[in-house]
Amino acid sequence: MVRRFLPLLLLLLAGASPDTPAPGPLRIIGQGSAGCIAGAVRLPDSAVGLQTIRASKSSFWGAPDTVAALLTLGQRTHAAGLPDLYLGDLSAPRGGPLRGGHFSHQMGIDADVYLDLSARSTLTAEQRDALEPPSMVRADGRNIDPAHFGPAQITLLHLATELPGVDRVLVNPAIKRGLCENVVGDRAWLRFIRPWWGHASHMHINFRCPAGQPLCPARPPPPPPGEGCDASLDWWFAQLDKPPPPPGPPAKPPQPPAACRAILSGED
Ligand SMILES: [Zn+2]
Repeated sequence: MVRRFLPLLLLLLAGASPDTPAPGPLRIIGQGSAGCIAGAVRLPDSAVGLQTIRASKSSFWGAPDTVAALLTLGQRTHAAGLPDLYLGDLSAPRGGPLRGGHFSHQMGIDADVYLDLSARSTLTAEQRDALEPPSMVRADGRNIDPAHFGPAQITLLHLATELPGVDRVLVNPAIKRGLCENVVGDRAWLRFIRPWWGHASHMHINFRCPAGQPLCPARPPPPPPGEGCDASLDWWFAQLDKPPPPPGPPAKPPQPPAACRAILSGED
């Protein structure tokens, strides 16, 4: 009996738990969208140009490169005159599934950044925790809502695509359409803004695997050349016209690789 619980006892004595990061060096391990991370660092709750929100429901740990890129985003949007960004989920301290059924965000290389940039006074910790940033998309799902989405959001999305290590940025198809219809001048960055379901109030930034991480799974191929303002975007709106498919069995959460077991259990 004692032997059975010895590892757990040692773990508790060592102060390690799934609520604290696994010690470095950085190790990112995954298969598909499931995985884990050791050596994660936490995004500060406040930094130049950004604040974390919904802390009781979110997790703000990531690879050092991810956190550094987000701090750079805050500095650049601040320098561009935008109000503080609101940051949502990065990853759990050791990666793995997040609360709220998030299947991605398991390896410290994903981040949710809200698109709400309305002028605001300083919020208390309680207000930040309770915040529900608004959707940028009209109720019909086909177009942006100009009451919420405008030039400031375009600047934010553009700056996000220019961060070091960014693979692509996912937004609701209506937001992508809003960019296709409203961005003037340099449009090459539109290639890296890709449509996905949901993502009406926030963008999801996918970072590439940091160098020297052979167990970090390859991301999908880079976005095809071009702005993506074409039939591939129309496809998403065509789906809205179709009747919803009959409900199937609930999607099975992807399983992290066995190499994650020690990290996720807090033994590593
Ligand atoms: Zn996300």
